Amino acid sequence: MNRRRMMLVTAALAAAAAGAAAWLLLRPASAPLARVRFAVVAGEPLRYDPGVFHWRSGKELVRAGQAIADGQAVRFRGRAELRLAPGHRGKTVVYFPYAVRPQAAGSVRVAIVLERQGRETPLRTFSASRKLEHYYAARLDLERGDAIRLRAEGAGFLVAGRAVVTPPAAPGDRPYIFVLAPDNVRGDLMAPDNGPGAPLPAVQAFARDAACFENAVAPTPWTLPSFASLFSGQYEFRHQVTKSSPLSPDKPHLLAGIAPRCPVIQFNDDVWLSAKMGLARHHDGFFTSARTQDVYADRMLFANARAFIESAPFPALFMFLHTYKAHAPYEPGAEFRSRLPRGCRESVWPPIHGAQFDPRPSEGERQEMRALYGAEVEQLDHHIGGFLSWLKEAGLYDRSLIVLTSDHGEEFDEHGGWFHGHSLYRELHHVPLYIKFPGGRHAGRRLRDTVSVVDVLPTVLDQLGIEVPAGIDGVSLLPLLRGEPARPRVVACSAAVSVFEPHIPPRFSLFTGPYHLIYNLPATQQDPGYYAQHGRPADRPTIELFDMRSDPGERREISRLQPGIVASLRPEIDRILREVSKRRRAPQSQVFDEEREALKTLGYL
Ligand SMILES: [Zn+2]
Repeated sequence: MNRRRMMLVTAALAAAAAGAAAWLLLRPASAPLARVRFAVVAGEPLRYDPGVFHWRSGKELVRAGQAIADGQAVRFRGRAELRLAPGHRGKTVVYFPYAVRPQAAGSVRVAIVLERQGRETPLRTFSASRKLEHYYAARLDLERGDAIRLRAEGAGFLVAGRAVVTPPAAPGDRPYIFVLAPDNVRGDLMAPDNGPGAPLPAVQAFARDAACFENAVAPTPWTLPSFASLFSGQYEFRHQVTKSSPLSPDKPHLLAGIAPRCPVIQFNDDVWLSAKMGLARHHDGFFTSARTQDVYADRMLFANARAFIESAPFPALFMFLHTYKAHAPYEPGAEFRSRLPRGCRESVWPPIHGAQFDPRPSEGERQEMRALYGAEVEQLDHHIGGFLSWLKEAGLYDRSLIVLTSDHGEEFDEHGGWFHGHSLYRELHHVPLYIKFPGGRHAGRRLRDTVSVVDVLPTVLDQLGIEVPAGIDGVSLLPLLRGEPARPRVVACSAAVSVFEPHIPPRFSLFTGPYHLIYNLPATQQDPGYYAQHGRPADRPTIELFDMRSDPGERREISRLQPGIVASLRPEIDRILREVSKRRRAPQSQVFDEEREALKTLGYL
């Protein structure tokens, strides 16, 4: 066989292997997944913002902890009842999210019952004296004409999302996709060789099963726009999500491609990851924890994920898991403090607004914060390990696609700042990115190409054989893993539109080869009162350039030594400046208008 023919055969075999892998993930279940809406039987039907339900507690608007996807809501005094006709026969998984809100100082009795030929069998009954968001999931043996009723007695609101109805997993089913996205994890601390931190046995074992992208860049240095980038596949200066502007419905949401294939479930720790910010679209369940700052938020997250999978054995599933563990306050659980220096405090908040705090933290305090943060990452490793072990015991690990990444890093005065959101140096832009493919493919690979968190979902879509939509910045990483020649690409990181505080000057980063260029714009807003309290952000030159290969700590600014690199990036700089200039002027978007509409519907406005 000549060399060219051998290459063709090799390519054909590789394509066949890729096709087989896609088939593994796409193979239809023995009967299709269906999404079924409830019908209102009793109670006053309510219109509400699709994707999120609002209610009022006292005088305050309270957002339900979960998005209720396109179901039914009723207000009731006396009795409310919703009825679901699954339309399936035989062994069936029935899942739906619901929310109950008793009227002030009242309590509501809720029953979920199976209706069969005029007779009712209780499936679940409980009382709620305060707002409650949960889900029902069970394996039922259904007969023709069976229905499920969700009934509440008392006074308040009852909401149910669309139900997912599907046969349970058969042996060999359950190709699952997990995206594990703990918040605030520096890339160096969760490197496969564990970098400067303590050993992370779970992540290091996982690294042997996964492809590790050693130079993964966060799209922005803070949580909200970073996750908006992950879900939209667009950079921050293009999706333009800010604290007052949610992800617009006309922007891409990459889970739209996955939702037709399998249930899409998210457990997160709330705050920025909210339905209100437009992130919950295309989910069948978007569950936010009420205990965001809990010391053991990571343990609870994985317990919730496991309980969900055990109660709803879907043939295929996409699950996104986020926790604020590793975010300030640096507060590891007691069993993760053994390596800490003596006298270390239990919980420490870093200075949030930069280094000009009075008094500025001492070197001892800096080391204490680093140690506590490191112990948080150790704790996270322990709970990630527990979850991965359980996936193995449950026979789900080998067939699953598992991504481990984070939204941004954390700074400890490397460049005069603390916390995150304020600058774009490596301590903030470098994040872990591991992708474990089904069947052990690409296991143990290490790639040094600069890639981005915006590439995560395009890679998942590509792996599933789903077309990656046009108009996004993310690209599939599969060609890179297959060794195909990489297209020239400039990766970006920015806080140019969605600045963490309006007083911080906007800036963006470009990465090309080993070079990292930061472009600093002038501050758009002055605030002497803020500066007096927190310090004025340091003035920076317009352009800073670093060679990450010879200077990974980004200490030596070399733009004058490398004018050719700066000049080669000029077209990209100009393109981003044009995008930034399109910054939306209106601080409120359609979702907030819908929210007002929902409030009107509920009689609050
Ligand atoms: Zn974050």
